[in-house]
Amino acid sequence: MLGKLLLIILAVLGIVWLLRGARRTGGDADRTSRAPQDAGALQPMARCAHCGLHLPQAEALLHDGQAYCGRLHRLAGPRAPYGRR
Ligand SMILES: [Zn+2]
Repeated sequence: MLGKLLLIILAVLGIVWLLRGARRTGGDADRTSRAPQDAGALQPMARCAHCGLHLPQAEALLHDGQAYCGRLHRLAGPRAPYGRR
């Protein structure tokens, strides 16, 4: 009698635990595990033609085949490489 009751309680606890785990992995963990991957290894990087800043290509502004970190640098245009003045 007591053994059966314990088994039912354990089964209920197990189901609740499984449901919680499924919700957690389906919601938060899915988001947090995807975000660093996008920002890191999988994302191609671009270099600002004006200041040389490296930024994700998705955030770069492209103009005339050059990448820029922001609107101001896109308007300013590409700058001569280091050493040339
Ligand atoms: Zn820049």
